Amino acid sequence: MRKIWLSFFLLFFVLSCKTNPFTGKSTLNFHSNSSIFPMAFQQYDEFLKENKVVTGTADAQTVKKVGQRIANAAERWLNANGYEGYLKDYKWEYNLVRDDQVNAWCMPGGKIVVYTGLLPITRTETGLAVVMGHEVAHALADHGAQRMSAGTLQQLGAVGVAVATSGKSAQAQQVWAQAYGVGSQVGVMLPFSRKHENEADAIGIEIMAIAGYDPGEAARLWQRMKANAGQTPPEILSTHPSSDTRIRNLTQLAPAARAEARKFGVTSFQ
Ligand SMILES: [Zn+2]
Repeated sequence: MRKIWLSFFLLFFVLSCKTNPFTGKSTLNFHSNSSIFPMAFQQYDEFLKENKVVTGTADAQTVKKVGQRIANAAERWLNANGYEGYLKDYKWEYNLVRDDQVNAWCMPGGKIVVYTGLLPITRTETGLAVVMGHEVAHALADHGAQRMSAGTLQQLGAVGVAVATSGKSAQAQQVWAQAYGVGSQVGVMLPFSRKHENEADAIGIEIMAIAGYDPGEAARLWQRMKANAGQTPPEILSTHPSSDTRIRNLTQLAPAARAEARKFGVTSFQ
C-alpha cells in the first residue's frame, strides 16, 4: 500500500512536456509513462479480477485478434513516421468482459476491455475494429492523462491520503474510472471533450484502415449506435456524444484513411 501511495505522490512532481506524434501537439502532462503505466496495469488486473472475463469463445478470440491487428497498425504507423520506441513501455492486452454495458475502453499502456453488451452493435470484426481503433487512439493521444492533469490532481491528492490511511483502493479506482471511462459501477464518468473525440475518431479510422479494416464501417457503426440509443442509452454514448456531425465527419475521413493505408501496402479492406 505504501508503494501505491508513493506512486501517487510521484504523480504530482513528474512534469513532462512532450509532442504527441498522433496529434502533433505539444501537451503538458504531469505524468510520464513510467509513473502512470504501472498504476494502470495494477488497476487493470484488479478490474479483471473483479469482473467476468470471457475466455475460450469465438467472441473472446475475435477481441484479441482485432486488438492485436490494431496495435500492430499503430506500431507500423509510428515506426514509419520516425517514432520508433514510442510503444516500448506498452503491454498490450485485450479482454472481453461479460457485462451488458455498451462500452469499451483502453487504459494507458494498451490495456483494453470490450464489454459483451457492445457486440450486438459492432456485429462484425470490422465493427469492433472501429470501436477499438477509437479507444486505442484515446490512449495513444494521452487524452486520459491530459484530463487527469487538468482536472484530477486535487482528487489524486485525496486518493493518496485515503490509500495511505485506510489501505482501500475504491477511491483510486474511481479516479481511474473518471479519467479513462472505465465503467459506470466504479464511478461517475467524465466525458472526453468534443476536441478529444474528434481526434480519436480521426486517428482511430486511420489505424483501422492500416490494420486492413474497411474505414467505411466507422460511419455505419455510429449510425447503429445512434439507432440503439433510443431503447437503452448505451454507456459509450455518455462518454462519447454521438451526433450526425460525427457520422458525416467519419464518412468524409474514410477516403483519406484508405489512402493512408495504401502507403503501408494495404489495398483491400475487410
Ligand atoms: Zn471517445
